[in-house]
Amino acid sequence: MTRLEVHKFGGTSVGDARRISGCAAILAEVAPRARVVAVASAMAGVTDRLVASATAAAHGERDAALAIVAEILELHEVALRALAAEAPDATLAFFRATCAEIAELARAASLLRDLSLRTRDQIIAAGEKMSVRLLVLALRACGVPAQAMDADLFLETDQRFGEANALPEIARHTIAGALLPVLERGEIPVVTGFCGRAPDGATTTLGRGGSDLTATLVAAALHADEVTIWTDVDGVFSADPRIVPEASVIRQLNFREAAEMSYYGAKVLHQRTMIPVAALGIPVRTRNSFAPDRAGTVVDGTFTPGSHPVKAVTAVREHCLVSIEGKGMAGVPGVAARVFGALASRKISVTMISQSSSECSICLAVPAEQATETETALKLELRGDLSLGSVDEIAVRRGVGLVAVVGLGMAHTPGVAARVFSALGARGINVLAIAQGSSELNISLAVTDARTPDAIRALHAEFGLDRLDTGEDTTRRLDLLLLGCGKIGRALAGLVLQRSGHFFERFGLSPRIVAVADRSGYLFRPNGITPAELDAIWRKKESGIPLASSDGATASSDPVEMVADAMRYRLARPVLVDVSDSDGTHDAYLEAFRLGCDVVTANKKPLAGSLATFRALRAAAEAAGRLLRAEATVGAGLPVVDTLEMLLGTGDRLIRAEGCLSGTLGFVMARLEEGMPFSRAVAEAMELGYTEPDPIADLSGADVARKAVILGRISGLALASQSVNAESLVDPSLAGLRKDEFLKQLASYDAPMRLRVDAARNDAHVLRYMARIAADHIEVGLVSVALDSPAGRLHGTDNLIVFTSERYDVRPLVVMGPGAGVEVTAMGVVGDILRIAAERR
Ligand code: ADP
Ligand code: ASP
Ligand code: MG
Repeated sequence: MTRLEVHKFGGTSVGDARRISGCAAILAEVAPRARVVAVASAMAGVTDRLVASATAAAHGERDAALAIVAEILELHEVALRALAAEAPDATLAFFRATCAEIAELARAASLLRDLSLRTRDQIIAAGEKMSVRLLVLALRACGVPAQAMDADLFLETDQRFGEANALPEIARHTIAGALLPVLERGEIPVVTGFCGRAPDGATTTLGRGGSDLTATLVAAALHADEVTIWTDVDGVFSADPRIVPEASVIRQLNFREAAEMSYYGAKVLHQRTMIPVAALGIPVRTRNSFAPDRAGTVVDGTFTPGSHPVKAVTAVREHCLVSIEGKGMAGVPGVAARVFGALASRKISVTMISQSSSECSICLAVPAEQATETETALKLELRGDLSLGSVDEIAVRRGVGLVAVVGLGMAHTPGVAARVFSALGARGINVLAIAQGSSELNISLAVTDARTPDAIRALHAEFGLDRLDTGEDTTRRLDLLLLGCGKIGRALAGLVLQRSGHFFERFGLSPRIVAVADRSGYLFRPNGITPAELDAIWRKKESGIPLASSDGATASSDPVEMVADAMRYRLARPVLVDVSDSDGTHDAYLEAFRLGCDVVTANKKPLAGSLATFRALRAAAEAAGRLLRAEATVGAGLPVVDTLEMLLGTGDRLIRAEGCLSGTLGFVMARLEEGMPFSRAVAEAMELGYTEPDPIADLSGADVARKAVILGRISGLALASQSVNAESLVDPSLAGLRKDEFLKQLASYDAPMRLRVDAARNDAHVLRYMARIAADHIEVGLVSVALDSPAGRLHGTDNLIVFTSERYDVRPLVVMGPGAGVEVTAMGVVGDILRIAAERR
């Protein structure tokens, strides 16, 4: 068996006897298929308490220091009794001896009121020595042979007590030398995390959280196949879950991304964890020991260009910003070198640096506790420059937090920095300093410590990190959510999917349909519904089978649910497309705006309903910075709204708009002129798919009235118009009849209609169903117009809209062309989607 795995258990994972048994069970499961090295932290809270005890001792508070040691002993004895009914004497004796030794050190320190870093390390490393012995007992109880290994006997480090580094080549040999014989005996070495051995044999520690580093050092030395860091959360999150509760688990990180995150405060991994393993490409998994079935996060050498540009937002708190300013600094070589030299010689580590290109200022961030020391060091180093005036001042600003936006994909995605600043700006968060590594792996910025959590949340939301990861490339995608799966939806899907290259290529985007809804429910696939699956849906719909019965569909009568469900995912440039005929979809639009989705509608009802709703939709879109487009609601694919936007956008003022807005009624009128009876003309329009799903909507003028209202509202001409009295061509009571019955009833209109047509013809006129929109006034009805007028010359389903504006006054602007039909309507919708694609590129 050659495979070798290193498993590290954090403090909470070995927090009590039950947890320790849980870890033993995890290892017992791995042991039959791989050689295993375990690394353990101290039991939860123990290192904190040891630190507190050491600090109390250093302040001369002997009793307090000793009381803490007694507590720690008690904690371990309780766990020991729980793990082994008859506590093995050797382990109990070890705990007592270890605590007696710490107590001795604490007594001495409190007498001297002084504690060296060396002695402090000896005290705080004790937690791990005790916890590994508990884990060994638990393993043996599962029948797995194990051996406690104290790393301060073999993990060779330098002498930086409190923050020691492993000695590169030497540690590798000594680690292998200590652990391989144990592995060869078929036992699991259980190594104390966090500590090492100074050249003179003293115990060192690797910095708080250092057990992670122990694990990767061991893995590198033994050329392990994999490291697993077991902790108390599901993996590495897109932000600290205590600050951003909706943060999500990141499935995969590159070594460099993980290193950057831990450097900038992601506590889940010690800052230097990745250094030993990155070069060797040994993957590191982070998993939840409380829920071992979950996948967790894998950190490895891979990187998928085009994956999310930003993967995480992290922060370090309690820093200060030091700025060194002076016009005389420009061009004087070596100021920066002297600044950093002075800090390095005092072991002050600089977390962030930024220098203005004019070289007139250098700004750096250091941990708050080193503020005074930093200021003194710099004033001493630069005293000559200060007195000469080449450096004007050294200013220190306290109470600063450093926020980092991390992701390798940023290097391939323009505009990330702009989004960072506008997201912060929108929340009134002031950026005090910025730095971007030339690798474009992170953008880090300083804000006040108090606003740091706000800044993290703002950036986390800006990059959609609160959403579930689809694990796919989002850079080129444009995700469509279809409301309605009737004829227009189907035609739209055809246009979008089959000819996508043709339409969307110039924006570098490829659209996909991720959700479809009808009245019965919806189907949502975060990674896109395949064309085959869509086909199956359309076919079923044709035979009257509701969508909710499709595999994987959710039954729901409320489209808001589809939007909310889909927007839990990190979709790319999502657009809700309403191709339904429902009057209950406006709440879905509001939800879409709120969650960051644009809306395109071919459905007139939400915009032509109550004025309050129209206003609420506009306001919501505006507030959320989203787009609401409705070209296909008037004139199908004709550029009506587009033309209007062009006029108004260039400062023109609309005086009047009028025209024939119903392709269906245009078609019927044309047929009447040819001599066809009214009822037959309507029947033919229905056959050809020109009518609304319910033809009464056309014949009653309701459909034209809606279009007129929308035009009035969008143009601002008749914004306040609530409803319009439309002249109905038939009795509204015909609504809801079966088709054959309806057509039969319709025949009674043939003769009267014929009379009106003939009367018009006698005056060289024709009948047209027209809408007139003037300031605060809309009229809709059948009128007789001269044959040689623009409306009189219309053919078939053609629509006509005549705009009279200040600029287009004597000779108005005319938009004319086919204004009904599934294909052209779908085209209008595609036009709107393209506009959005251009905006969201
Ligand atoms: P352990 O004792 O297992 O080493 P730590 O307390 O050192 O655990 O690290 C895990 C904790 O790190 C989590 O409980 C979480 O609160 C915190 N944390 C901070 N940032 C992140 C992040 N980006 N992802 C996951 N956890 C984070
Ligand atoms: N026990 C140590 C600490 O609390 C090391 C670790 O947990 O990784 O810092
Ligand atoms: Mg930790």
